[in-house]
Amino acid sequence: MSEPEREPLISLPSGARREHIFPTLTAEQMARVAPHGHVRRFAKGEVLIEAGTSAIPFFVIAAGRIEVVRPSGSSEQLVTVHQRGGFTGEVNMLSGRRTLVRSRAAEDSEVIELSRDQLLSFVQTDPQLGEILMRAFILRRIELIASGIGDVVLIGSVHSAGTLRIREFLTRNGHPYTYIDLDRDSAVQEMLDRFQVTVHDVPVVICRGDVVLRNPTNQQVADLLGFNETIDATHVRDLVVVGAGPAGLAAAVYGASEGLDVLVLESNAPGGQAGASSKIENYLGFPTGISGQELAGRAYLQAQKFGAQVMIAKEAMELTCDRQPYRIRLDGGAAIPTRAIIIATGAEYRRLPLDNISAFEGNGIYYGATFVEAQLCAGEEVVVVGGGNSAGQAAVFLAATARHVHMLVRSGGLAGTMSRYLIRRIEDNPAISLRTHTEIVGLEGDGHLERVRWREAQTGTISDNRISHVFVMTGATPNTRWLDGCVAIDGKGFIKTGPELSRDELATARWPLARAPHLLETSLPGVFAVGDVRGGNVKRVASAVGEGSIAVSFVHRVLAGV
Ligand SMILES: Cc1cc2nc3c(=O)[nH]c(=O)nc-3n(C[C@H](O)[C@H](O)[C@H](O)COP(=O)(O)OP(=O)(O)OC[C@H]3O[C@@H](n4cnc5c(N)ncnc54)[C@H](O)[C@@H]3O)c2cc1C
Repeated sequence: MSEPEREPLISLPSGARREHIFPTLTAEQMARVAPHGHVRRFAKGEVLIEAGTSAIPFFVIAAGRIEVVRPSGSSEQLVTVHQRGGFTGEVNMLSGRRTLVRSRAAEDSEVIELSRDQLLSFVQTDPQLGEILMRAFILRRIELIASGIGDVVLIGSVHSAGTLRIREFLTRNGHPYTYIDLDRDSAVQEMLDRFQVTVHDVPVVICRGDVVLRNPTNQQVADLLGFNETIDATHVRDLVVVGAGPAGLAAAVYGASEGLDVLVLESNAPGGQAGASSKIENYLGFPTGISGQELAGRAYLQAQKFGAQVMIAKEAMELTCDRQPYRIRLDGGAAIPTRAIIIATGAEYRRLPLDNISAFEGNGIYYGATFVEAQLCAGEEVVVVGGGNSAGQAAVFLAATARHVHMLVRSGGLAGTMSRYLIRRIEDNPAISLRTHTEIVGLEGDGHLERVRWREAQTGTISDNRISHVFVMTGATPNTRWLDGCVAIDGKGFIKTGPELSRDELATARWPLARAPHLLETSLPGVFAVGDVRGGNVKRVASAVGEGSIAVSFVHRVLAGV
C-alpha cells in the first residue's frame, strides 16, 4: 500500500465551523467518556477501523494521532487526521452501517474505545457531549457528501429515469456518491468497457471499485451498501412501524426514546411524501420553512440516536393477523414478529400522467390548497384539476385570492362527483371557469412551472397558457393493499380507527377485548394507523407527526395489557 496522498480530501474553513466538525474534547470531557469504554493502544500503522465494516466502535484519541484515509484501488487519499481530544466517526456510528473510510494509527497511539451500543447510551445520558458528537457526526457526513467521498460511483444519464431514481434514493438516504454523467464525460466509456457494460445497462452502480450493478432496483442498491445488514429480523419487537414518512419517523422517535424496541420498515427511503416537498412552510417552529428532505433527514437521525432501527428498501407485503405476536412478511421473504404495529404507510396522490410532472412538484404543481399556496398564487391565474369535493373546495377557496381559477375535468360535468352546494358556488363565481372534457397535456418551465397546455377532447383544441400554479386534486390511494382485510377500512380504502369504528364494524372484525379501541387503534388490537393512511386525517406533515407520537402512548398501554 502506498503512502496516502497528503492533501486532505476535506478542505475545511478555519473557525467555528471547523471546530464543530472536528471539535477537540477537553481533558474533563474525555474523563466523562472514559468510564463508558476502555483504553486501547495501537502501534504506528495499525488499523483501528477497516473501510467497509459495519457496527464499528467509537474512538476518542487520548495520545498520538489517528489518520483517516479513503482507500482507492491500491492507493489511499487522506481525509483527515485526529489528534489528542479528537474522535472518530460520522453518522454511520448511529445507523451501524458500513464505514466509508479506514482509520489507522499515524504514530503509536492510545484511545478510549466505546462499542456502538455504549456510544448510543452515552449520548443519551450526557446531553452536552451528546450534542457535540451528534453535531460533528452530521457535519462530517455533510462534508463527505459535498466532497463526494463515498464507496459508490453512479454512472448515468439525465435521460434515464433509473438514474434519477437511484440518485434520489442515495440522496434521501444521505449516502455520499460520485456521479458520472455519460452525456458529459466521454472518457467514461473506457470504464464501461472494462466492466463490459452496454448502454442498455445504464445506470450503473460501482461499489468499492469492484462490485458492479446494472440498472439495479433500490433494494439491490440497499443490499449492496449493507444498509440493513446489522438489523436482526428474527426477535420479537415491542413495536414495528411500517413507513418512514413524517408519521412513522415521529412514532419511531417517541417509541425509541421511551425505551421501546422499535423497528421501522420503509419500502423506499426515509421521508415519505414530505421528502419530496421542496419547502414545508407550515410546520411549527420553522418560520422560514424547511425542505422535506432536511426535516426527514433530521428525524431519521433522531430516531437512530434513540436506538430505533430502520430497514431501508424493504416493503411490508403481508400481515399475519390471526395470532400474536403479529408477523409482517417483507418482500425478501423474512417475517418480522412484533407485539404492536403502527401503520404509517401514507397515501399516493394520483398524479397527472406527464413525464416531467415530478420536476414541478412543489414548484407549481400542488396536491393541497392551503393558505400558503393561496398566497403564492395571489392575483394570478391558476388551474384546479379534478371534479370531486376536494377539487371544488380548492377552487372556491383559491378564487378568493387568485385572479382566475380554471377548473379542468375530464368528464362532461360535476353533477356525479361533487356536492350540489359546491357546484352552485362554482357556477355563481365569475372568477371560476369550469372546463369540461379537458385535460392537461403539457407542462413547461425552467425550474418553476411557467406554461400549461390543455386539450379540449371534443374539438381537439390545444391551448397554451401562461400559468404557474396547478392544483392536482384527483384524490389519493392509501397504501393498504398489504393489509388484505386484517383491519377495517372506509369506502375509499383509508384505515378506520378509534371512535370512527362502529359497533357493527368491530363485531365483523371480531374485536376480542372488553375495552373499545384506543384513539388511533384499528379494528385489530395493538395495531394503530397514523398519518395520511388513516381515514379522516388532514393530510399535513404536522398532523402526521402528531398522530405518530400520540399513538406511541397507546402502544405503551397495549404492551402493559391495559
Ligand atoms: C409534493 C408535496 C408537497 C407537500 N407539501 C406539504 C407542505 O408544505 N405542508 C404539509 O403540511 N404537507 C405537505 N404535503 C403533505 C404531506 O407530505 C403528507 O401529509 C405527509 O407526508 C404524510 O405523512 P405520512 O407519514 O402519513 O405518509 P407519507 O409521507 O406518505 O409516508 C409513507 C411512507 O410509507 C412508505 N410505505 C408505503 N407502503 C409501504 C409498505 N408496504 N412497506 C413499507 N413502507 C411503505 C412510503 O414509501 C413512505 O415513505 C405535501 C405532499 C406532497 C406530495
